[in-house]
Amino acid sequence: MDNCIFCKIANGLIPSATVYEDEDFRIILDMNQKIRGHMLILPKQHYADLYELPPQLAAKAMLLAQKAAKACQKTMDIDGLNLLQNNGEAAGQSVMHFHLHVLPRKKGDDPKFPAWDEESISSEEMKELADKLSQQLS
Ligand code: AMP
Ligand code: ZN
Repeated sequence: MDNCIFCKIANGLIPSATVYEDEDFRIILDMNQKIRGHMLILPKQHYADLYELPPQLAAKAMLLAQKAAKACQKTMDIDGLNLLQNNGEAAGQSVMHFHLHVLPRKKGDDPKFPAWDEESISSEEMKELADKLSQQLS
């Protein structure tokens, strides 16, 4: 993808604050640190989102997230950690190249992040939804 900024960063064509690299992935510090230590896990090949990412790379992204989380725990005085992965504009994705956010958390940091109001859903709707999803998943 010629005009994808994360393709260029992941493949070293644009410099970044890289903390890890292998044949499939690069992990960088996000240039807008939502919180100190905020990292992005980027595949080197272009996949727009989770739907496109091959299963073996999806599995590897989670293994790298675990490594990155442990590195945060060892090097920073953190109290928690979020993984965040946005797919589609409606979900807040702004760069259309798969990326997984690793967000270290401190007690007392912005409690609103991430925050959603709860949706009210009846137990019948809940059962219908669970049935539909489980048919697709099995
Ligand atoms: P999302 O909203 O999930 O698509 O996240 C995109 C993230 O990419 C944001 O947190 C941005 O701060 C980050 N970002 C965008 N451009 C760059 C860049 N050139 N280098 C590092 N991080 C970037
Ligand atoms: Zn790309």
